[in-house]
Amino acid sequence: MSPQKLLLIPGPSPVVPRILDALSLPTVSHVGPDMGRDLREACENMKRILFCENGEPFIVAGAGTLAMEMALLNTAGPGDRVLVLSQGYFGDRMAQICAAFGLAHDVLESAWGRSVTPGELEARLKAKNYNIVACTHVDTSTGACAPVEEYSQVLDKTGALFIVDGVCATGGVAERMDDWGIDVVLTAAQKCLGAPPGLAILVLSELAMEKRRSLASVPAYYSDLLRWLPIMREPSKYFSTPCVNEIRAFAEATRIVLDEGLEERFERHELYAEAIRAGLAALGFTFFTDPRFMASTLSVVRYPEGVDDKAFRAGLSENGVVVAGGLASTAGQVFRMGHMGNLTSSDVRFAIDAAERTLAGLGRKIAPGSGRAAVESILKS
Ligand code: PMP
Repeated sequence: MSPQKLLLIPGPSPVVPRILDALSLPTVSHVGPDMGRDLREACENMKRILFCENGEPFIVAGAGTLAMEMALLNTAGPGDRVLVLSQGYFGDRMAQICAAFGLAHDVLESAWGRSVTPGELEARLKAKNYNIVACTHVDTSTGACAPVEEYSQVLDKTGALFIVDGVCATGGVAERMDDWGIDVVLTAAQKCLGAPPGLAILVLSELAMEKRRSLASVPAYYSDLLRWLPIMREPSKYFSTPCVNEIRAFAEATRIVLDEGLEERFERHELYAEAIRAGLAALGFTFFTDPRFMASTLSVVRYPEGVDDKAFRAGLSENGVVVAGGLASTAGQVFRMGHMGNLTSSDVRFAIDAAERTLAGLGRKIAPGSGRAAVESILKS
């Protein structure tokens, strides 16, 4: 077995022992009381994490893409038109799902590295009517964080349902469903929530549930939320066997989020993002994302002149830290470092020390300790 490395890809994020221990408990009946307790608690905790009083949570085996599909299929019916706000690879995926199911849709795109602005959204909504607007909160391809609260203020005047892809944000960046009028947050277990991959997670507002009920049928079976609703309310009922161990681990992950405190967790994500970026900047790296849009959950990082992507990432892995390469047109130009979930300040320090060692190994002249000094100036301030 290879020695354990610090997993700083933009999801899955590192899974802490408390969650791994929960995962390894003996498998129990999927309709028994233990499972019922964990599923109910995980559902209630998701509502708390999303600041949602009366919504309906859904937790099913799958991942973020299934959750995207479920969100669209359960809200968009014949005669509806969806506006997809795309700021990168995963916004484009939302449009691809609309196309795959023949949902009428338009795409309002931003350049990579920034988001569609509320003004651009407002202008589009004045020009054309939409029943549903879907956005990516943090696009993992670009590191840009969309101004979700401001979008919702624009949407407030239109009556359109608002879907937010929180896969790279939920539990790390605030998503206040009730206050902001978000109708669906879809997300996954493996990023800011800190659990292993394997779950599609959604919370729907009462309005979004009404919309689902108003659709006579949806072009889906497993993805039909009305088939899952009775199980989420009463887990002793059966529809399709839930992933018992993963749900138990996920329940533990949500307890960890709430034990830390949501505001504290959001602030910690911001602090670590700042510390990591200060450390990388001190080592000569720059950033792909427009500074006005930078997310606190990952950084998309440009290399100093002459540093090769493959060599750097291989060296960093040798030094104990795994990051991801760029997606689509950014491949070879950037690396993507996730800093989300249950990261510790020691992880932040370890990552920057490893980046410094890697650059030194590639023959760069770096004043020893310069990355770490920049990190400490943020962590101790
Ligand atoms: N949306 C966003 C913003 C993502 O980052 C991802 C995964 N990186 C997805 C959707 C798709 O999630 P999954 O890979 O779990 O299907």
